[in-house]
Amino acid sequence: MFDNLSIKNLSAAITFICALVILALFSLFYFIYDSTIDLLPFLAGIVVSMAVLYFFILQLLEKYVYNKLRVIYKFIHNSKTKSSKKTILEDVVSIDDVNKDVLNWASETEKRIESLQTLAEYRKNFVGNVSHELKTPIFSLQGYLHTLLDGGIYDESINLKYINRAAENADRLQHIVEDLESIGEIESGIMELDIEKFDIYELIRDVFQDHKRMAEKQKIKLKLGTNGDFPLMVKGDIEAIRQVLNNLITNTLKYGNQEGTTVVSTFDLHKNILIEISDDGIGIEEKHLEHLFDRFYRVDRSRSRLKGGSGLGLSIVKHLVEAHDQTINVRSTLGEGSTFGFTLEKA
Ligand code: ADP
Repeated sequence: MFDNLSIKNLSAAITFICALVILALFSLFYFIYDSTIDLLPFLAGIVVSMAVLYFFILQLLEKYVYNKLRVIYKFIHNSKTKSSKKTILEDVVSIDDVNKDVLNWASETEKRIESLQTLAEYRKNFVGNVSHELKTPIFSLQGYLHTLLDGGIYDESINLKYINRAAENADRLQHIVEDLESIGEIESGIMELDIEKFDIYELIRDVFQDHKRMAEKQKIKLKLGTNGDFPLMVKGDIEAIRQVLNNLITNTLKYGNQEGTTVVSTFDLHKNILIEISDDGIGIEEKHLEHLFDRFYRVDRSRSRLKGGSGLGLSIVKHLVEAHDQTINVRSTLGEGSTFGFTLEKA
């Protein structure tokens, strides 16, 4: 009942209570002493006094309560986001509204502080991870080049080998920087998706073609698990999905077994198409699966580095799939192989 009192209601309520008390006291006095007082002027006097009291209380509340609230409220308003609907204190009709607004503001501020703390933590980790990732190939590159400069260039038993290794490390650096660029673009929201309709089989065949040499080197067969004779139209950013397939298929070659097989299959899920990329490679232990899509996460650091990985590939894949409002998942058995599946909207 008294939940949503405005300042005027509040003054009126206090005045009314005072009037009741005075009337009660007066009645008591009237009946006890059987007074012969003239009631009409008395009641008129009470009404006038109550009106004066009402304005007095109103001024008092304005001066000592609302003016101070106004300062607090103005501060809250100024620190609120522009999208906030409330503008100034005049919009607020009751103390209850102020209370709600202050509570909302407090919870918004708490959330903002939490997200800033997470961001600060992320930035700290990110910078640490990036410098760590760059350090390894830079040190190797430095080592090979200095050995060559210190005379190794004339030693035929090592010169070509070291030049090759230096080149490999330079390639790795380029790979890491490209991945960092991609993740930076995606996470800062600069990247805009260019959604179009395309045949997913054609894209898979294209990506197979790009990986043909690497697959032959590893003696791994690249197979389409479904009949791809007819187009299967999906909606998405073709270049983003090409990168998703690239990263997932490259991983099957990096972590697959020699003479193994990589199979890409599609499944009809009513409104979506599920695309699964399976290998019969080393597989992943279950405890790693929940972190697999985290930035810089690697199951086996030395093996991944050896294969030129930046630890960002799967994180980029996840970002790109989620930017399409779609999902990605993984199942894997250690020693048997892994299957990564993501969905795309049917066209
Ligand atoms: P990286 O650049 O190290 O390959 P990714 O983000 O692509 O980074 O993958 C993260 C980790 O997940 C890899 O280091 C690897 O240990 C594991 N991984 C990814 N794909 C596979 C796969 N098909 N089979 C086994 N392990 C995999």
